[in-house]
Amino acid sequence: MPFTDRVFSGIKPSGDLHLGNYLGAIRRFVPLQNDFECIYCVVDMHAITVWQDPADLKRWTYEIAAAYIAAGVDPTAHIIFNQSQVAEHAELAWIFNCVARMGWMSRMTQFKDKAGKNSENVSLGLFAYPSLMAADILLYKATHVPVGDDQKQHLELSRDIAAKFNHDFAPSIAANGFEEAYFPLPEPVITGPATRVMSLRDGTKKMSKSESGSDMATIYLMDDAETIARKIKKAKSDADALPSEEKGLENRPEAANLVGIYAALSDKSVAEVLAEYGGQGFGAFKPALADLAVSVLATQADEMRRLVADPAQIETILRSGADRAREIAAKTMLEVRDIVGFIR
Ligand code: ATP
Ligand code: MG
Repeated sequence: MPFTDRVFSGIKPSGDLHLGNYLGAIRRFVPLQNDFECIYCVVDMHAITVWQDPADLKRWTYEIAAAYIAAGVDPTAHIIFNQSQVAEHAELAWIFNCVARMGWMSRMTQFKDKAGKNSENVSLGLFAYPSLMAADILLYKATHVPVGDDQKQHLELSRDIAAKFNHDFAPSIAANGFEEAYFPLPEPVITGPATRVMSLRDGTKKMSKSESGSDMATIYLMDDAETIARKIKKAKSDADALPSEEKGLENRPEAANLVGIYAALSDKSVAEVLAEYGGQGFGAFKPALADLAVSVLATQADEMRRLVADPAQIETILRSGADRAREIAAKTMLEVRDIVGFIR
């Protein structure tokens, strides 16, 4: 049985959305609608792996749903919902907790980064996070997952979990009349050059919702034009002119980041941007980048503001999405319970 070409991806409501989320994820979700059945989730159960104030969690959930819609995701032709409305995510994650190995989880660099020296004191959920992510994807037998570099290792783990489930339960899968590979091995979707947006204060650190360090390090999607321009003009850079070729950006992380952002925002390659700006200093480049960022982000931000002003409408969209997601998820779980040997 060939699997339906289906995309699953999600963003955690763990902070205000930023330029990295937009360029690395949200904007890339839109064109996939032409080729795939798409499920875009607000993964609130992932968010609570670290403490979230309940009021913030709700606010950020609305914000992410609004960001998907504002960017052009169609919530009727495709599915937008928040994870916790479909209880099957937690159920399959438990089964995957019993498939995945401690050693696999221990190798996850994101856990090490997020736990840091505090690893005895973080939640058990943070450690088990990749198991829930595998459940998110495989509950829908999604074949393709658009994720940034920071999630590649987790996606590989999802494949390992799918493969081990298919292998461990092979006789039962066959006895229940399913094809040999019950779960697909989900693949990353590459849409254009990888964009990894780094902090504006430190070009070696990822821009992120939860570890911004300072507000000046992060361009938030809801920032107004003046704030965006100020942050870009004050961004850390260096005293040299921009090189004419990419090689000249080596060992210049801040310069590489600003050029990379320009390239992503203008849909050009880094080489094209350097062909235009090579030889110019940041005094000329930063204002050009600020203008570009403001012009691209203004429409997105305006539409998000309009949408979050009407939470009832977003709730209706999330509920309808959850109902349609649950139909697919419930069918998978009936099958999985049979395969595992749970009486129903
Ligand atoms: P947190 O700090 O809570 O982990 P985050 O900003 O890293 O938040 P996630 O919810 O973990 O955001 O990731 C959502 C999506 O955004 C993922 O597809 C991830 O790859 C992408 N993403 C996150 N940060 C960046 C970034 N700096 N550049 C490009 N893509 C990013
Ligand atoms: Mg993250």
